[in-house]
Amino acid sequence: MDSFSYKKGQLFAEEVAVSLIAAEVGTPVYIYSKATFLSHLAKIQEAFAQLDTTICYSIKACSNVNILKFMADAGSGFDIVSGGELYRALQAGADASKIVFAGVGKTDKEILEALQAGIGYFNIESEQELANLITLAEQSGTVTKAALRVNPDVDYKTHAYITTGTKETKFGVDIERARKVFADYGDNKSVKLCAIHVHLGSSGKTIDPYCEAVEKILPLVEQLRAEGHTVDALDLGGGFGADYESDTVPSASDYASGIVPLLKDKGLKLILEPGKSICANAGIMVARVLFTKQGGSKKFAIIDAGMNDLIRPALYGAFHFIWPVQVEENLVPDRRSEDLQLDGTEVIDIVGPVCESGDFLARDRSIPAVKRADLLAVFSAGAYGFSMSSNYNSRCRPAQVLVDGSDFEVIRERESYEDLTAKEKDI
Ligand SMILES: *Cc1c(COP(=O)(O)O)cnc(C)c1O
Repeated sequence: MDSFSYKKGQLFAEEVAVSLIAAEVGTPVYIYSKATFLSHLAKIQEAFAQLDTTICYSIKACSNVNILKFMADAGSGFDIVSGGELYRALQAGADASKIVFAGVGKTDKEILEALQAGIGYFNIESEQELANLITLAEQSGTVTKAALRVNPDVDYKTHAYITTGTKETKFGVDIERARKVFADYGDNKSVKLCAIHVHLGSSGKTIDPYCEAVEKILPLVEQLRAEGHTVDALDLGGGFGADYESDTVPSASDYASGIVPLLKDKGLKLILEPGKSICANAGIMVARVLFTKQGGSKKFAIIDAGMNDLIRPALYGAFHFIWPVQVEENLVPDRRSEDLQLDGTEVIDIVGPVCESGDFLARDRSIPAVKRADLLAVFSAGAYGFSMSSNYNSRCRPAQVLVDGSDFEVIRERESYEDLTAKEKDI
Protein backbone atom coordinates (compact mmCIF):
# COMPACT_ATOMS: atom_id res chain seq x y z
CA MET A 1 0.00 0.00 0.00
CA ASP A 2 2.95 2.37 0.51
CA SER A 3 6.72 2.54 0.80
CA PHE A 4 7.12 2.34 4.57
CA SER A 5 8.13 -1.11 5.70
CA TYR A 6 10.24 -2.97 8.24
CA LYS A 7 13.49 -4.70 7.32
CA LYS A 8 14.99 -6.80 10.12
CA GLY A 9 12.88 -4.90 12.63
CA GLN A 10 13.92 -1.44 11.37
CA LEU A 11 11.45 0.88 9.71
CA PHE A 12 12.45 2.15 6.28
CA ALA A 13 11.00 4.89 4.12
CA GLU A 14 11.69 3.52 0.66
CA GLU A 15 15.40 2.61 1.05
CA VAL A 16 16.26 4.98 3.88
CA ALA A 17 16.24 3.98 7.54
CA VAL A 18 13.81 6.22 9.37
CA SER A 19 16.14 6.28 12.40
CA LEU A 20 18.84 7.82 10.20
CA ILE A 21 16.55 10.68 9.18
CA ALA A 22 15.51 11.24 12.80
CA ALA A 23 19.17 11.34 13.87
CA GLU A 24 20.10 13.87 11.19
CA VAL A 25 17.01 16.05 11.12
CA GLY A 26 15.66 15.64 14.65
CA THR A 27 12.11 14.98 15.82
CA PRO A 28 9.24 15.45 15.36
CA VAL A 29 9.62 15.11 11.63
CA TYR A 30 7.29 14.38 8.74
CA ILE A 31 8.75 11.93 6.23
CA TYR A 32 7.18 11.54 2.79
CA SER A 33 7.73 8.92 0.11
CA LYS A 34 7.84 10.32 -3.41
CA ALA A 35 7.22 6.87 -4.86
CA THR A 36 4.01 6.48 -2.86
CA PHE A 37 2.65 9.84 -4.01
CA LEU A 38 3.40 9.02 -7.62
CA SER A 39 2.09 5.48 -7.50
CA HIS A 40 -1.25 6.62 -6.06
CA LEU A 41 -1.49 9.29 -8.76
CA ALA A 42 -0.61 6.79 -11.48
CA LYS A 43 -3.19 4.30 -10.23
CA ILE A 44 -5.95 6.90 -10.48
CA GLN A 45 -4.72 8.06 -13.90
CA GLU A 46 -4.71 4.48 -15.18
CA ALA A 47 -8.04 3.56 -13.65
CA PHE A 48 -9.82 6.47 -15.35
CA ALA A 49 -7.81 6.44 -18.60
CA GLN A 50 -10.86 5.41 -20.64
CA LEU A 51 -12.42 8.83 -19.98
CA ASP A 52 -10.95 12.26 -20.71
CA THR A 53 -9.90 12.75 -17.10
CA THR A 54 -7.99 15.49 -15.30
CA ILE A 55 -6.79 14.67 -11.83
CA CYS A 56 -6.63 17.73 -9.63
CA TYR A 57 -4.70 16.84 -6.52
CA SER A 58 -6.24 18.68 -3.58
CA ILE A 59 -3.46 20.90 -2.30
CA LYS A 60 -4.81 21.44 1.18
CA ALA A 61 -4.14 17.83 2.16
CA CYS A 62 -0.38 18.22 1.86
CA SER A 63 0.87 21.37 0.24
CA ASN A 64 4.67 21.59 0.25
CA VAL A 65 5.70 23.17 -3.02
CA ASN A 66 8.36 20.50 -3.67
CA ILE A 67 5.63 17.87 -3.58
CA LEU A 68 3.41 19.94 -5.89
CA LYS A 69 6.33 20.23 -8.32
CA PHE A 70 6.78 16.52 -8.88
CA MET A 71 3.02 16.03 -8.96
CA ALA A 72 2.73 18.69 -11.69
CA ASP A 73 5.57 17.02 -13.59
CA ALA A 74 3.65 13.75 -13.43
CA GLY A 75 0.64 15.39 -15.06
CA SER A 76 -1.43 16.30 -12.03
CA GLY A 77 -3.66 19.35 -11.96
CA PHE A 78 -4.62 20.96 -8.68
CA ASP A 79 -7.70 21.63 -6.63
CA ILE A 80 -7.27 24.89 -4.71
CA VAL A 81 -9.37 26.51 -2.00
CA SER A 82 -7.53 29.80 -1.47
CA GLY A 83 -5.28 32.40 -3.03
CA GLY A 84 -2.42 30.94 -1.02
CA GLU A 85 -2.93 27.57 -2.66
CA LEU A 86 -3.04 29.24 -6.09
CA TYR A 87 0.29 30.85 -5.25
CA ARG A 88 1.75 27.49 -4.27
CA ALA A 89 0.47 25.81 -7.43
CA LEU A 90 1.94 28.53 -9.65
CA GLN A 91 5.23 28.42 -7.77
CA ALA A 92 5.31 24.70 -8.47
CA GLY A 93 4.97 25.36 -12.19
CA ALA A 94 1.43 24.01 -12.46
CA ASP A 95 -0.44 24.13 -15.74
CA ALA A 96 -3.02 26.81 -14.78
CA SER A 97 -5.64 25.33 -17.10
CA LYS A 98 -5.62 22.25 -14.86
CA ILE A 99 -6.45 24.21 -11.71
CA VAL A 100 -9.96 24.19 -10.24
CA PHE A 101 -10.85 26.70 -7.54
CA ALA A 102 -13.37 25.54 -4.94
CA GLY A 103 -14.64 27.03 -1.72
CA VAL A 104 -17.71 28.85 -0.42
CA GLY A 105 -15.97 32.10 0.45
CA LYS A 106 -13.67 33.30 -2.31
CA THR A 107 -12.66 36.94 -1.90
CA ASP A 108 -12.49 39.39 -4.82
CA LYS A 109 -8.72 39.48 -4.48
CA GLU A 110 -8.48 35.71 -4.77
CA ILE A 111 -10.90 35.64 -7.71
CA LEU A 112 -8.94 38.30 -9.60
CA GLU A 113 -5.68 36.45 -9.00
CA ALA A 114 -7.19 33.25 -10.36
CA LEU A 115 -8.70 35.06 -13.38
CA GLN A 116 -5.31 36.58 -14.10
CA ALA A 117 -3.61 33.19 -13.83
CA GLY A 118 -6.12 31.67 -16.28
CA ILE A 119 -7.26 28.74 -14.18
CA GLY A 120 -9.44 25.98 -15.64
CA TYR A 121 -12.64 26.25 -13.63
CA PHE A 122 -14.17 28.17 -10.79
CA ASN A 123 -16.41 25.88 -8.79
CA ILE A 124 -19.43 27.99 -7.96
CA GLU A 125 -21.42 27.54 -4.77
CA SER A 126 -24.22 30.13 -5.14
CA GLU A 127 -25.90 32.62 -7.51
CA GLN A 128 -24.35 35.53 -5.66
CA GLU A 129 -20.90 34.10 -6.09
CA LEU A 130 -21.49 33.55 -9.80
CA ALA A 131 -22.82 37.09 -10.30
CA ASN A 132 -19.75 38.46 -8.54
CA LEU A 133 -17.40 36.31 -10.66
CA ILE A 134 -19.10 37.65 -13.81
CA THR A 135 -18.68 41.24 -12.64
CA LEU A 136 -15.00 40.72 -11.88
CA ALA A 137 -14.32 38.87 -15.15
CA GLU A 138 -16.05 41.62 -17.16
CA GLN A 139 -14.21 44.39 -15.31
CA SER A 140 -10.85 42.74 -15.79
CA GLY A 141 -11.50 41.74 -19.39
CA THR A 142 -10.89 38.06 -18.72
CA VAL A 143 -12.79 34.97 -19.78
CA THR A 144 -13.14 31.86 -17.66
CA LYS A 145 -15.16 28.71 -17.16
CA ALA A 146 -17.31 27.78 -14.21
CA ALA A 147 -18.73 24.59 -12.79
CA LEU A 148 -21.90 24.86 -10.73
CA ARG A 149 -21.74 22.88 -7.56
CA VAL A 150 -24.87 20.81 -7.36
CA ASN A 151 -25.92 18.99 -4.28
CA PRO A 152 -27.09 15.51 -5.23
CA ASP A 153 -28.50 14.89 -1.74
CA VAL A 154 -26.55 11.70 -1.23
CA ASP A 155 -25.78 10.73 2.33
CA TYR A 156 -22.20 9.65 2.45
CA LYS A 157 -22.74 7.72 5.70
CA THR A 158 -19.63 9.15 7.20
CA HIS A 159 -18.49 11.36 10.00
CA ALA A 160 -20.79 14.38 10.48
CA TYR A 161 -17.92 16.90 10.20
CA ILE A 162 -16.95 15.70 6.76
CA THR A 163 -20.37 15.05 5.23
CA THR A 164 -20.95 17.71 2.60
CA GLY A 165 -23.21 16.04 0.01
CA THR A 166 -26.62 16.21 1.75
CA LYS A 167 -29.23 18.93 1.29
CA GLU A 168 -28.71 20.79 4.56
CA THR A 169 -25.21 22.12 4.11
CA LYS A 170 -23.76 25.50 3.24
CA PHE A 171 -22.29 24.03 0.06
CA GLY A 172 -23.74 24.14 -3.47
CA VAL A 173 -27.30 24.36 -4.78
CA ASP A 174 -29.86 21.59 -5.15
CA ILE A 175 -30.80 19.96 -8.44
CA GLU A 176 -34.00 21.99 -9.03
CA ARG A 177 -32.20 25.26 -8.37
CA ALA A 178 -29.38 24.32 -10.76
CA ARG A 179 -31.68 24.64 -13.80
CA LYS A 180 -32.63 28.17 -12.78
CA VAL A 181 -28.97 29.16 -12.35
CA PHE A 182 -28.19 27.87 -15.85
CA ALA A 183 -31.26 29.67 -17.24
CA ASP A 184 -30.17 32.96 -15.63
CA TYR A 185 -26.43 32.80 -16.26
CA GLY A 186 -25.85 30.03 -18.81
CA ASP A 187 -25.12 32.28 -21.79
CA ASN A 188 -22.72 34.76 -20.22
CA LYS A 189 -19.70 35.46 -22.44
CA SER A 190 -17.13 36.20 -19.74
CA VAL A 191 -17.94 33.28 -17.49
CA LYS A 192 -18.88 30.16 -19.40
CA LEU A 193 -21.04 28.11 -17.11
CA CYS A 194 -20.41 24.73 -18.71
CA ALA A 195 -19.75 22.15 -16.02
CA ILE A 196 -21.28 20.53 -12.98
CA HIS A 197 -19.37 20.01 -9.77
CA VAL A 198 -20.49 17.42 -7.29
CA HIS A 199 -18.73 17.12 -3.99
CA LEU A 200 -19.28 14.36 -1.50
CA GLY A 201 -17.55 14.17 1.83
CA SER A 202 -14.56 11.88 1.74
CA SER A 203 -13.51 8.82 3.69
CA GLY A 204 -16.28 6.67 2.34
CA LYS A 205 -15.82 2.96 2.64
CA THR A 206 -17.92 2.15 -0.44
CA ILE A 207 -18.16 3.52 -3.97
CA ASP A 208 -21.98 3.65 -3.82
CA PRO A 209 -22.42 7.34 -2.97
CA TYR A 210 -20.30 8.27 -5.99
CA CYS A 211 -22.32 6.11 -8.36
CA GLU A 212 -25.57 7.33 -6.86
CA ALA A 213 -24.45 10.95 -7.30
CA VAL A 214 -23.51 10.39 -10.95
CA GLU A 215 -26.84 8.67 -11.57
CA LYS A 216 -28.67 11.66 -10.10
CA ILE A 217 -26.62 14.21 -12.04
CA LEU A 218 -26.81 12.64 -15.53
CA PRO A 219 -30.53 13.40 -16.02
CA LEU A 220 -29.81 17.00 -15.02
CA VAL A 221 -27.05 17.18 -17.63
CA GLU A 222 -29.47 15.87 -20.29
CA GLN A 223 -32.12 18.34 -19.24
CA LEU A 224 -29.72 21.28 -19.33
CA ARG A 225 -28.50 20.27 -22.76
CA ALA A 226 -32.09 19.97 -23.98
CA GLU A 227 -32.64 23.51 -22.74
CA GLY A 228 -29.78 24.67 -24.95
CA HIS A 229 -26.91 24.81 -22.47
CA THR A 230 -23.44 23.42 -22.93
CA VAL A 231 -22.34 20.97 -20.24
CA ASP A 232 -18.98 19.49 -21.11
CA ALA A 233 -17.41 18.51 -17.81
CA LEU A 234 -18.29 16.82 -14.58
CA ASP A 235 -16.11 17.52 -11.59
CA LEU A 236 -16.59 14.63 -9.24
CA GLY A 237 -15.15 16.10 -6.14
CA GLY A 238 -14.46 15.05 -2.66
CA GLY A 239 -11.60 12.70 -2.42
CA PHE A 240 -11.77 8.98 -2.36
CA GLY A 241 -11.28 7.12 0.88
CA ALA A 242 -7.73 6.67 2.13
CA ASP A 243 -6.20 3.58 3.63
CA TYR A 244 -5.65 4.49 7.28
CA GLU A 245 -5.95 0.83 8.21
CA SER A 246 -4.80 -1.87 5.85
CA ASP A 247 -7.16 -2.54 2.93
CA THR A 248 -10.38 -1.09 4.33
CA VAL A 249 -11.31 1.25 1.48
CA PRO A 250 -12.03 0.80 -2.23
CA SER A 251 -9.10 1.23 -4.62
CA ALA A 252 -8.98 3.66 -7.54
CA SER A 253 -9.90 0.82 -9.88
CA ASP A 254 -12.91 -0.06 -7.69
CA TYR A 255 -14.14 3.53 -8.03
CA ALA A 256 -13.45 3.48 -11.75
CA SER A 257 -15.33 0.22 -12.23
CA GLY A 258 -18.48 1.92 -10.95
CA ILE A 259 -18.02 5.40 -12.41
CA VAL A 260 -16.46 4.83 -15.85
CA PRO A 261 -19.36 2.79 -17.32
CA LEU A 262 -21.84 5.46 -16.19
CA LEU A 263 -19.90 8.25 -17.91
CA LYS A 264 -18.77 6.48 -21.07
CA ASP A 265 -19.91 8.19 -24.28
CA LYS A 266 -21.69 10.94 -22.36
CA GLY A 267 -19.50 13.70 -23.81
CA LEU A 268 -18.31 14.77 -20.40
CA LYS A 269 -14.75 15.42 -19.37
CA LEU A 270 -14.13 14.11 -15.88
CA ILE A 271 -12.32 16.04 -13.18
CA LEU A 272 -11.32 14.28 -9.97
CA GLU A 273 -10.06 15.95 -6.81
CA PRO A 274 -8.27 13.37 -4.71
CA GLY A 275 -6.44 14.59 -1.62
CA LYS A 276 -5.93 12.11 1.14
CA SER A 277 -6.21 9.03 -1.07
CA ILE A 278 -2.98 10.23 -2.71
CA CYS A 279 -1.06 11.52 0.26
CA ALA A 280 -2.35 9.99 3.51
CA ASN A 281 -0.13 6.95 3.50
CA ALA A 282 2.63 8.72 1.58
CA GLY A 283 3.74 10.28 4.84
CA ILE A 284 4.56 9.36 8.41
CA MET A 285 5.34 11.51 11.41
CA VAL A 286 8.18 10.38 13.62
CA ALA A 287 8.41 11.43 17.25
CA ARG A 288 10.63 10.55 20.16
CA VAL A 289 9.44 9.26 23.53
CA LEU A 290 10.28 11.84 26.19
CA PHE A 291 8.99 9.96 29.21
CA THR A 292 6.87 7.01 30.19
CA LYS A 293 4.73 7.14 33.29
CA GLN A 294 2.05 5.29 35.17
CA GLY A 295 -1.08 7.29 36.03
CA GLY A 296 -3.47 5.16 38.10
CA SER A 297 -4.06 2.01 36.09
CA LYS A 298 -2.91 3.68 32.87
CA LYS A 299 0.46 3.78 31.27
CA PHE A 300 1.42 6.80 29.22
CA ALA A 301 4.13 7.52 26.70
CA ILE A 302 4.71 11.26 26.45
CA ILE A 303 6.24 12.07 23.09
CA ASP A 304 7.78 15.19 21.57
CA ALA A 305 4.94 15.64 19.03
CA GLY A 306 1.57 17.00 20.01
CA MET A 307 -1.78 18.14 18.68
CA ASN A 308 -0.16 21.21 17.16
CA ASP A 309 1.90 18.88 14.95
CA LEU A 310 -0.88 16.40 14.11
CA ILE A 311 -4.38 17.41 15.14
CA ARG A 312 -6.49 14.69 13.51
CA PRO A 313 -6.88 12.41 16.56
CA ALA A 314 -7.88 15.34 18.79
CA LEU A 315 -10.05 16.98 16.13
CA TYR A 316 -11.99 14.07 14.69
CA GLY A 317 -10.97 11.11 16.77
CA ALA A 318 -9.04 9.92 13.72
CA PHE A 319 -7.14 6.66 13.94
CA HIS A 320 -3.43 6.59 13.16
CA PHE A 321 -1.49 3.38 13.45
CA ILE A 322 1.55 3.98 15.69
CA TRP A 323 4.49 1.61 16.09
CA PRO A 324 8.11 1.85 17.24
CA VAL A 325 10.65 2.57 14.52
CA GLN A 326 12.79 -0.32 15.78
CA VAL A 327 11.32 -3.60 17.08
CA GLU A 328 12.19 -7.24 17.61
CA GLU A 329 11.48 -9.14 14.42
CA ASN A 330 8.56 -11.02 15.98
CA LEU A 331 6.92 -7.64 16.65
CA VAL A 332 6.94 -6.39 13.06
CA PRO A 333 3.26 -5.62 12.31
CA ASP A 334 1.78 -7.54 9.37
CA ARG A 335 -1.01 -4.96 8.94
CA ARG A 336 -1.94 -1.58 10.34
CA SER A 337 -5.19 -1.84 12.17
CA GLU A 338 -6.70 -0.70 15.41
CA ASP A 339 -7.28 -4.22 16.68
CA LEU A 340 -3.81 -5.60 15.93
CA GLN A 341 -2.81 -7.75 18.92
CA LEU A 342 0.64 -9.26 19.10
CA ASP A 343 2.27 -11.12 21.98
CA GLY A 344 4.68 -8.85 23.80
CA THR A 345 2.71 -5.62 23.45
CA GLU A 346 1.24 -3.45 26.19
CA VAL A 347 -1.69 -1.07 26.29
CA ILE A 348 -0.77 2.59 26.59
CA ASP A 349 -1.94 6.12 25.83
CA ILE A 350 0.36 8.05 23.55
CA VAL A 351 0.14 11.74 24.39
CA GLY A 352 1.82 15.00 23.46
CA PRO A 353 3.35 17.77 25.53
CA VAL A 354 0.69 20.41 24.81
CA CYS A 355 -1.26 21.79 27.78
CA GLU A 356 -4.65 20.36 26.75
CA SER A 357 -6.17 17.08 27.87
CA GLY A 358 -7.23 16.53 24.24
CA ASP A 359 -3.58 16.32 23.27
CA PHE A 360 -3.33 12.64 22.47
CA LEU A 361 -2.36 10.64 19.42
CA ALA A 362 -3.70 7.28 20.62
CA ARG A 363 -5.63 5.94 23.58
CA ASP A 364 -5.56 2.40 24.97
CA ARG A 365 -3.33 1.27 22.17
CA SER A 366 -1.47 -2.05 22.12
CA ILE A 367 2.11 -1.46 21.05
CA PRO A 368 5.48 -3.01 21.89
CA ALA A 369 6.92 -1.65 25.13
CA VAL A 370 8.66 1.69 24.67
CA LYS A 371 11.09 3.58 26.85
CA ARG A 372 12.54 7.07 27.02
CA ALA A 373 14.32 8.10 23.75
CA ASP A 374 12.67 5.44 21.56
CA LEU A 375 11.32 6.59 18.22
CA LEU A 376 7.66 6.10 17.30
CA ALA A 377 6.26 6.27 13.79
CA VAL A 378 2.76 7.67 13.35
CA PHE A 379 1.58 6.16 10.07
CA SER A 380 -0.69 7.60 7.39
CA ALA A 381 0.11 11.12 8.51
CA GLY A 382 0.69 12.53 5.03
CA ALA A 383 -2.76 14.11 4.69
CA TYR A 384 -3.92 16.95 6.94
CA GLY A 385 -0.86 16.40 9.11
CA PHE A 386 1.65 19.12 8.47
CA SER A 387 -0.92 21.17 6.55
CA MET A 388 -3.09 21.51 9.68
CA SER A 389 -0.18 22.02 12.05
CA SER A 390 0.10 25.16 14.13
CA ASN A 391 2.40 26.99 16.50
CA TYR A 392 0.10 26.48 19.50
CA ASN A 393 2.07 26.53 22.74
CA SER A 394 4.72 28.40 20.72
CA ARG A 395 5.97 25.12 19.36
CA CYS A 396 8.04 25.21 16.21
CA ARG A 397 6.49 23.30 13.33
CA PRO A 398 8.34 20.07 12.45
CA ALA A 399 10.66 19.61 9.51
CA GLN A 400 9.41 17.91 6.35
CA VAL A 401 11.63 15.39 4.59
CA LEU A 402 11.13 13.84 1.16
CA VAL A 403 12.55 10.39 0.48
CA ASP A 404 13.28 9.34 -3.08
CA GLY A 405 14.80 5.86 -3.32
CA SER A 406 17.96 5.88 -1.23
CA ASP A 407 18.10 9.70 -1.02
CA PHE A 408 16.35 12.06 1.31
CA GLU A 409 16.12 15.80 1.45
CA VAL A 410 14.68 18.33 3.87
CA ILE A 411 11.90 20.08 1.91
CA ARG A 412 10.91 22.37 4.76
CA GLU A 413 13.18 23.25 7.61
CA ARG A 414 12.11 22.87 11.18
CA GLU A 415 10.88 26.27 12.34
CA SER A 416 13.03 28.26 14.70
CA TYR A 417 12.19 30.43 17.70
CA GLU A 418 12.94 33.45 15.51
CA ASP A 419 10.25 32.28 13.08
CA LEU A 420 7.74 32.33 15.93
CA THR A 421 8.07 36.07 16.53
CA ALA A 422 9.19 37.15 13.05
CA LYS A 423 5.89 38.89 12.20
CA GLU A 424 5.41 40.42 15.63
CA LYS A 425 6.17 44.15 15.73
CA ASP A 426 8.73 45.60 18.09
CA ILE A 427 6.69 48.54 19.44
C1 LIG B 1 -10.49 18.89 0.59
C2 LIG B 1 -11.05 18.80 -0.75
C3 LIG B 1 -10.86 17.66 -1.52
C4 LIG B 1 -10.06 16.46 -1.09
O1 LIG B 1 -10.52 15.79 -0.01
P1 LIG B 1 -9.76 14.49 0.53
O2 LIG B 1 -10.65 14.00 1.56
O3 LIG B 1 -8.44 14.93 1.10
O4 LIG B 1 -9.54 13.58 -0.60
C5 LIG B 1 -11.39 17.66 -2.79
N1 LIG B 1 -12.08 18.70 -3.27
C6 LIG B 1 -12.28 19.82 -2.55
C7 LIG B 1 -13.03 20.93 -3.14
C8 LIG B 1 -11.78 19.91 -1.27
O5 LIG B 1 -11.99 21.02 -0.57
